[in-house]
Amino acid sequence: MKDGTCTHCEGTEIYEIEEARIPNYESSNGVDALTLTAHYGPSGESGMFGAKSARSVVRISAYVCAACAYTELYAQNLDVLDRLANTSGTGVHKVTRS
Ligand SMILES: [Zn+2]
Repeated sequence: MKDGTCTHCEGTEIYEIEEARIPNYESSNGVDALTLTAHYGPSGESGMFGAKSARSVVRISAYVCAACAYTELYAQNLDVLDRLANTSGTGVHKVTRS
């Protein structure tokens, strides 16, 4: 898809969406990123009051075929995904072929 050819129908017109977003219904023109994860937990940093926490989000980009609407999603922050996979309780697991 990223090369401009649909992997489903071989169509050659593809829409690239740099960052998938959803409306923020609290604000008439607000938008939020559509994310694969939204884990809130220790960031690995410490501050004046102890361990800091932060939200770990993995944003996504999308490619949509103009002919058949087939859509592929791509994670943007693989480093964040890897950190979440190495932290228990995040719901992210790395599956490897053995
Ligand atoms: Zn297609």
